[in-house]
Amino acid sequence: MTQRTGAHGERVSLLGYGAMRYPTVDGGHAAMSRGGSNSAIDTAAVQQHIDYCIEHGVNYFDTSPAYCRGESEKVLGDALAKHPRDKWFVATKLSNFAAKTHSFEASRAMYEESRRLLRTDVIDFYLLHSIGGGGKNSMKLFNSRFIDNGMLDFLLKEREAGRIRNLGYSFHGDEAVFRHALSMHDKVHWDFVQIQLNWVDWHHAKEVNPRNVNAETLYNLLAERKIPAVIMEPLLGGRLARLNDTISRRLARLDPNATPASWSFRFAGSLPGVLTVLSGMTYLKYIEENVRTYSPLKPLDATELATLERSAKTFLSDDNVPCTACDYCMPCPYGLDIPGIFSFWNQAVVEDRLPDEPGDPGYAQNRRRFLIDYERAIPRLREAQRCIGCGRCAPHCPQSIDIPAMLRKVDDLVEKLRRNGRA
Ligand code: SF4
Ligand code: SF4
Repeated sequence: MTQRTGAHGERVSLLGYGAMRYPTVDGGHAAMSRGGSNSAIDTAAVQQHIDYCIEHGVNYFDTSPAYCRGESEKVLGDALAKHPRDKWFVATKLSNFAAKTHSFEASRAMYEESRRLLRTDVIDFYLLHSIGGGGKNSMKLFNSRFIDNGMLDFLLKEREAGRIRNLGYSFHGDEAVFRHALSMHDKVHWDFVQIQLNWVDWHHAKEVNPRNVNAETLYNLLAERKIPAVIMEPLLGGRLARLNDTISRRLARLDPNATPASWSFRFAGSLPGVLTVLSGMTYLKYIEENVRTYSPLKPLDATELATLERSAKTFLSDDNVPCTACDYCMPCPYGLDIPGIFSFWNQAVVEDRLPDEPGDPGYAQNRRRFLIDYERAIPRLREAQRCIGCGRCAPHCPQSIDIPAMLRKVDDLVEKLRRNGRA
């Protein structure tokens, strides 16, 4: 396993285990935050994952009080406790999103609870969780969550006392907040920063939504200051693990045996300022594959990089929704399965299953197949047509997706297909 060096000389594995999509006993995966499967976490399978990781040199484990409806830290703490403390680094976050948790007392209680659940006196990597969110209020929110309440000052003292080894933040959203936090570097000395980075977002995040920031910009700002980057969303919520035929054929010409995921992991890992690349790996086979990719890393060459850049343009020309299935928009008060609907849509786009117009060859069959698959994937009461456009979900979306508008688009197609069947 390729390793990188952290701000204080820690030798960190290039692959990091993201504890936000644990396997559940029904064979699915636990929700990252509030949506997803209601089934219990399969703690035996998680233990198997952690054991496998540690045996194969993966030593960075990332969690948050917000993941898996609050259960992630305890499950991880229990699984890690079976291994010597010098075999693993744990990262967790100050996930004080709700206004009632902004006070110093509530935020500090969250921090102390993390240490208790993770069964450790020392948190190796501690993050201000997801700064930059909140739309127009992003700066106000940053100040309210971390500055005005004295929490950042408190965390700096905790680092001084050795109870936090590395202090950093994760970022989604408003570039002004990212730059503002970086401008504090002289005083704070950020030890690492977590950013979204993959071969599509590298040059094109802003094309998807002007409020996004290209990953190259974020990475370079950190590299200039020699701040190690922790990478999230290397697979763009799994979407880069399912590539359309054009991209798959193009990549297969470079290496017929490489999997789609391996290209993404090699892309993120090839950047020298990257400390570790996180992945929420629900099944052991994903961990095995990613361990293989990084044991050791084979950096991308210029031809491979150029091919991925060309492929990013092809990827964006598809009708994809940039949803990473993070669940932050959930629950919808009207019961919609927002990530489920978008995941179904993206799969149909990748597999070129969106029906064409009536009269086109195979239309009747494609229409029928699409509707059967949609009805199987999304229960009637959770379909896009239930959206009343209240807009409560959209401000929570770190990808700045206009969720109600996109749901209307899905529903317009579904309704048209249903109408055409009745005609
Ligand atoms: S806009 Fe639609 S999907 Fe979003 S919270 Fe309202 S009803 Fe739910
Ligand atoms: S729509 Fe946005 S908030 Fe909801 S799951 Fe997708 S990326 Fe996450």
